[in-house]
Order: sequence, then structure tokens, then C-alpha cells
Amino acid sequence: MRTVGVGLLGCGTVGAAVARLLHAHADDIAMRAGLRLEVARVAVRDPGRPRDVPVGPDRFTADPMAVVADPAVEVVCELMGGVDPARSLVLAAFERGKPVVTANKELLANHGRELFDAADGRGLDLYFEAAVGGGIPLIRPLKGSLAGERVARIIGIVNGTTNLILTRMSEDGLSFADALAEAQRLGYAEADPSADVDGHDAAAKCAILASIAFNARVVAGDVYREGIASVSADDIAFAARLGYVVKLLAIAELEDGEIAARVHPTMLPAAHPLAAVRGPFNAVFVQGERAGELMFYGRGAGGEPTATAVVGDLVAVGRHLVHGGRAMGCTCRLERRIRPIEANHDQYYLALEVVDRPGVLAEIAAVFGRHGVSIKSVWQEGTGEDAQLVFVTHRALEGALRATVEELRGLAVVEEVRSVLRVADEW
Ligand code: NAP
Repeated sequence: MRTVGVGLLGCGTVGAAVARLLHAHADDIAMRAGLRLEVARVAVRDPGRPRDVPVGPDRFTADPMAVVADPAVEVVCELMGGVDPARSLVLAAFERGKPVVTANKELLANHGRELFDAADGRGLDLYFEAAVGGGIPLIRPLKGSLAGERVARIIGIVNGTTNLILTRMSEDGLSFADALAEAQRLGYAEADPSADVDGHDAAAKCAILASIAFNARVVAGDVYREGIASVSADDIAFAARLGYVVKLLAIAELEDGEIAARVHPTMLPAAHPLAAVRGPFNAVFVQGERAGELMFYGRGAGGEPTATAVVGDLVAVGRHLVHGGRAMGCTCRLERRIRPIEANHDQYYLALEVVDRPGVLAEIAAVFGRHGVSIKSVWQEGTGEDAQLVFVTHRALEGALRATVEELRGLAVVEEVRSVLRVADEW
């Protein structure tokens, strides 16, 4: 049976789990795939550090280019993260005729075109199942199994850290700050949590999903982004009373040939399947023309789950090396306009701190009316100094809603626009 040499760039959370999995399940992989995968070389920053992996110390190096160039390495597995030097190493692998497996969403969401051009130009595989949804099989089902389908919308909970924080806020009444501190203590959130809580990680994944679903290149910068730091305990409580849960959603839609891609906290009906995705779990809900609704659910992070996705990709690449054939390359063949957020239509929730006296509601309602934003429901919370008015609108143009909020901020009777959240009633 042929053995295919794997070059690991990185042996951290995911890389070490890949090395262990290739070793522990070697016979299962050989039985299923008809080949053996062996870690031939590993690059890390500190090769002297002891690591719990079944790979001899002589295979470690601090020089990732030496791994790419090593003749024993037939497939390069990039698990170091970040854009540089990952980008140049992946390109160097292609120059040497070596296929690549990566888990690096940041790299793909910002440089996908360049990498796919390089891979396709040489007829080489570039697999990235683990880049979105960690251990959830998602990229290959979308690209391959659904190649005959037209996807209209993808809605994902693609960041486990923020989902854990929002779950704790919803179910246990924690504030954002306390839920974040707990997530950091448990190792779910980084010391600098901005990539997660500000929505950068979810935006990169949203860009990748939109690119695949709609056959057009969407980069991270095309994705409108709002994080969860401004979601308050009051918002969560109001949402619950109205029958919603607040989730950070990555939403990619195709409408009239235009792509709308965005990441923001959303009030989702409690009966929606995504509302049941709790804690650090991820799920991606796909709406297709003919297949209807599909949902992919599982662990979106963690070394062991993510390693299963990486090893699945290594098996696919290995089979191509041994038996011929190649992966579906880049499918972003169309040029599509990215719709600006102001041109989207949504329902909105607004919480306003107001002066508690007669005529205030009429004055505020008139502002909504002037901008063509129709109010679905309104109620008052508290009295006197604590008076808040809470509105839910019908579907309205985001640009009109923004103009409404701007004008409300200038009203003497509005002390503060405390929150604006989107409401997803129709998905
Ligand atoms: P990690 O634990 O920080 O590991 C990174 C590894 O890369 C370490 O072994 C590090 O060496 C090595 N490395 C970094 N820069 C290097 C350089 N310039 N030269 C040589 N080696 C270098 O990261 P991770 O969590 O495994 O994530 C790896 C990739 O998987 C990222 O793209 C991430 O987004 C993606 N991913 C991660 C998860 C997850 O749950 N962790 C899930 C899905 C996708 P040292 O060990 O010596 O520091």
C-alpha cells in the first residue's frame, strides 16, 4: 500500500491533533482510503518544545520552507494560521507541484483568488474543509453534493465563542462582560477577544460560504460586520419576552443577482432550528431552491473535531495523488455586485430611553413615518427616569431605518437610542 508523506506547517491545537489522529486511526484510514498517510516533516516556531505527538524529534524544524521543499513531503498541510508567512508557503507548495490542505479562514477569505489561481493553474488540489465550521462537513457538501442545487440563502452560527457568550447571557442572565470573562477563563475566548466578539472571524467564514454558494468571489472586507459587545442583558430579556433569542448570525443571500453578506447579532424566533444551537456549537442553515432547508450542526472548533475535517481532506488529496483525478477547483466564476447594507431590507428592534410625558410616542412615531418605516409593535418599559420605548418594525430599508435612528437621536424627548437589532421573522 502506498504511503503519502504529509508536511505539517504548524503543530499547535489543530496540527498536533492531526498528527495524533493520523497515527491512532492509521489502519482505519488505510482500509477506507487504500493508502497510508504519514507525517514526514513538521514546522513549528519552537522545535525544542516537548509535544504530545507521535512524531520523532528529528522531523521537526523551525523552517517551514524546508518542509515545503522536502522531497518526502507530497502534500502540504498548513495549520499555522495568519496570512504571512502562510500565504507565501502555500504558493511555494503549488510552485513545487504539491497540493495543499489548510484550515486557515483568514488566508482564504482575503487571498482566496490568488491561491485558487495558483492551484488551478497547475491542476493541484486546495482543500479547506476545516476553515469553516471546524469539524462540521460543510465545504464539500456545499461544493460537491449540492453542485446541482441553487442556494438562495445561508445562515450560520459560525463562531462558538460568541454563541457561548450569548447562550450564557440568555439562559443564565449574565452580562456581556461576565459571560466574556467566563469564556476567557474556560479557554473559549482569547485574551484579546476582538476577532470573535467583533465578528471578524465570522465575517471571514461568511465570505468563504458566500463565495462557494453563489459562485462569485466575496472577500472578508465585503461582509458587513457588527459584533456582540453592545448586546445588553435588557435586549436579551426583551427578545425572550417577544419569543426570540439573540444570535450572532453570518448571513449570505443572493437576491436579483446581487450578494448580501453580513454578520450581526439578530433576534431569531425561538422556534427556528438555529435558535436551539447552544454553547460553543456551530450550525449552518442552507436554503436551496429544490433541496429546501438543510442544517449542518456540530463542533465548530477544538483540535480533535477540526482534525477530522483536515484528515478527510488529506485522504481526498492522497487518493488523487495515488489514483489520479483532482478536487473541484475554484468555482467563483461570476462577477456579482455586493449589495451595500443600506440597500437591505430587514425588520428591526429598537430600544429608546425617553422622557416620560404625554405626546412622546406620537412625536417618535412621526419620525418613523417620515422615513417610511412602519411600526409593527411598541410598548413602554418602566416609568419616569427609567422609561424605555421598545419598537419592532415591519420590513424596512436599512437606509431608511438608519435615517430614522439619526433623526431620533436629535429629538429632545429621546435621551438615548440604546439598541438597534435586526429581527429575523421570515426565515
Ligand atoms: P495554534 O495552536 O496557535 O498553532 C499554530 C502552530 O503553528 C504552532 O505549532 C506554531 O508553532 C506554528 N507556527 C506559527 N507560526 C509559525 C511560523 N512562522 N513558523 C513555524 N511555525 C509556526 O493554532 P491552531 O488553533 O492550531 O490553528 C491553526 C489554524 O487552524 C488556524 O488557521 C486556525 O484559524 C485554524 N482553525 C483552528 C481551529 C481551532 O479550534 N483551534 C478550528 C478551525 C480552524 P509553536 O507550537 O512552536 O508555537
